[in-house]
Amino acid sequence: MRLGIDLDGVVADFNTGWIRLYNEQFDAHLTRDMVRTWNGLLDISHFETMGEFWRWAEQGEAPSMFRHLDTFPGAVESLATLARDHDIVIITTKPDWAVHDTLAWLSDNRVPTNEIHITTEKWRVSCDVYLDDSPEQVETIHRMRPDRVMCRFIRPWNTPIEGTLDVDDWPDFLAIVEGLVTSG
Ligand SMILES: [Mg+2]
Repeated sequence: MRLGIDLDGVVADFNTGWIRLYNEQFDAHLTRDMVRTWNGLLDISHFETMGEFWRWAEQGEAPSMFRHLDTFPGAVESLATLARDHDIVIITTKPDWAVHDTLAWLSDNRVPTNEIHITTEKWRVSCDVYLDDSPEQVETIHRMRPDRVMCRFIRPWNTPIEGTLDVDDWPDFLAIVEGLVTSG
């Protein structure tokens, strides 16, 4: 099967990454669990708009924030297991300036994939199963491709959507894919 896998909030720990950089540069004491909503960083940081946040995240001439993200425990190992029998299709949304850092990050972290799409219109990439944490993407992909399996990686910033599957963690996702294989 073709497994369409999101990066931030699924494989890459976006919140821990930006918060670490933010605390270093602004002498702040934010923690990851303070982010409870989509775009929730505006509530806990000094940034007034997401545009302001993204301009900071670019980090001028230095490697951008996207080069500094950790992987979630078990994420890359799980993808390596899945890659034995399936195609791992990375589908991620990034600002234009983050494309090269994203490709470098995928390489640094040995993410097992032969196919990478950087796009906001994720549903256009045809996959059998999708895994995403964005409330908007989960809803849109399911609406545009109702015959495919849409998995919502459960995070504080998303809620259940009828017709989609809830995923607690990576072992849970492996079990769902395995179940699809055995049910044909
Ligand atoms: Mg995401």
